[in-house]
Amino acid sequence: MDISWKSKVARDIIEISVPIHEYHAQEEKLQPFFKSKIREIQGDLNVIKILKKSLDARKTDIKYNLRLELFSGKDWPETISMPDFPPLRKEETVHIIGFGPAGVFAALKCLQLGIKPIVVERGQAVKERRRDVAKLNRSGEMNTESNYCYGEGGAGTFSDGKLYTRSMKRGKIQEILELLVLHGADENILYEAHPHIGTNKLPEIIENLRETIRDNGGEVRFGAKLTDLNIIGQQVKEIAINGQWESCQNVVLATGHSARDIYYLLHQNQIALEAKPFAMGFRIEHPQSLINNIQYHNEKNAAILPPAAYSLVTQVAGKGAFSFCMCPGGIIAPAATDNGEVVVNGWSPSKRNGNYANSGWVTEIGEEEWVDFKHHGPLAGLEFQKYIEQKAYEMGGGQFKVPAQNLLDYLEEKQSNALNASSYHPGKTSVDLNNLYPEAINFRLREGLRAMTKKLKGFDHQDAVVTAPESRTSAPVRIPRTVDLHHTEITNLYPCGEGAGYAGGIISAGLDGIRVVKAIKEIES
Ligand SMILES: Cc1cc2nc3c(=O)[nH]c(=O)nc-3n(C[C@H](O)[C@H](O)[C@H](O)COP(=O)(O)OP(=O)(O)OC[C@H]3O[C@@H](n4cnc5c(N)ncnc54)[C@H](O)[C@@H]3O)c2cc1C
Repeated sequence: MDISWKSKVARDIIEISVPIHEYHAQEEKLQPFFKSKIREIQGDLNVIKILKKSLDARKTDIKYNLRLELFSGKDWPETISMPDFPPLRKEETVHIIGFGPAGVFAALKCLQLGIKPIVVERGQAVKERRRDVAKLNRSGEMNTESNYCYGEGGAGTFSDGKLYTRSMKRGKIQEILELLVLHGADENILYEAHPHIGTNKLPEIIENLRETIRDNGGEVRFGAKLTDLNIIGQQVKEIAINGQWESCQNVVLATGHSARDIYYLLHQNQIALEAKPFAMGFRIEHPQSLINNIQYHNEKNAAILPPAAYSLVTQVAGKGAFSFCMCPGGIIAPAATDNGEVVVNGWSPSKRNGNYANSGWVTEIGEEEWVDFKHHGPLAGLEFQKYIEQKAYEMGGGQFKVPAQNLLDYLEEKQSNALNASSYHPGKTSVDLNNLYPEAINFRLREGLRAMTKKLKGFDHQDAVVTAPESRTSAPVRIPRTVDLHHTEITNLYPCGEGAGYAGGIISAGLDGIRVVKAIKEIES
């Protein structure tokens, strides 16, 4: 075991590397294990806290790198606890439209600041939503208000629950991770280098978060859809929920990137919007065992190694092509929100123990791609995205069957005779996916993939299959806001989260929810 000292103060922090088989042999008794290893240099210890854990699989002797904080003498680690929720100033309210990660963490922040959040969510609570999602998978029947994107917890509920973000604001991320742990997530998300929760655990955590909001005086309504806005001057005076008008003070608009009706509503009301680049492509799926072999080359430890992931990025014709939202041991999900369109995404259970590995393989989409849709102004990218999703539905033959092609056939631009097995449930139809996107996009996807197969030898395997479109990677529209985070033209409307173009993923959406509520209270972030 390698030990390197990071500091020599009372609370020491050390970094150690533990061979993976040794770590797993001791998993149930990690504290005594670490203590026995460290005692000889550190003396008696109260407790050891894991600050960071990452897998180092670059060489054949695969190991975990751990950063540990040692507590001895009178020192003990602080335990995490529920934040303070002071009594609410009842006259002060914030309407939060949408109960995805942005809305959830915005509501909790309101409560911490003594403001009453009134959350309105078009979809259903987790329990009912679970039934709707199962029906979609089983019989291709879509509930346009309750599906993989709409309902309690938003697009984050039946997701993989990967909790990493490119944001470097660790302290702020910690606030969200701790709240998730306090509501039922495993403590390991606080120190794993690539934390994730899993689709089987997220729904209960989301329900617990909702109960905390209600228990502390917040309001959460389901089946409650924002249908109109009454704007006078620079203020939203009233909002219509399912057609019923109610007055409002501040409004956080956290409706996600699938709510096209919200973009249309704003556009009809001549509220400024901007087209923004996003990414599209397909979802590629391999047997998980194949990805494990490619990544680890380590038969000896196959049983204890976590299901392998990958992250790929390259440039083709001056634009990025990259893997997106990789789900080891996962399932490809039908993530459309309307009839007549197909969208794929992916999720995995907490153990990531499914037979398949799926990931988005996408390329940047900019205004040169949507020239034919330019007359839609700021909604040009959105209309192009919708066109592709509807075309995919037709190619799939209806009932959310997904157009698919074996990877090798896609690269050779010929339709597959028999499709490889896949985790996608509503069914798949063999097509030549080169016909889905304009050639410039196909070229980047294909050539990017060819370049990547040189980095990951064996990735272009005969068992791999491609489904499409992966089209909802981020919002195709930005709802512009000022430095004070309200809309550029409406001073009490706060565009927030992924749908407004300020987040991409669970953590960044949650962070944006917190940031916007602090802006309402004029607290610096
Ligand atoms: C299958 C899948 C897997 C994913 N996996 C991951 C992952 O592993 N890690 C990760 O970081 N991200 C993942 N994502 C993306 C992540 O879920 C989103 O980035 C995140 O949920 C965005 O949060 P949000 O709150 O901004 O919007 P959303 O989560 O989209 O929430 C918006 C909410 O607003 C509601 N709404 C919309 N219109 C209205 C209206 N008119 N009135 C009232 N309510 C309305 C919707 O019903 C929805 O609940 C995944 C997404 C999917 C679909």
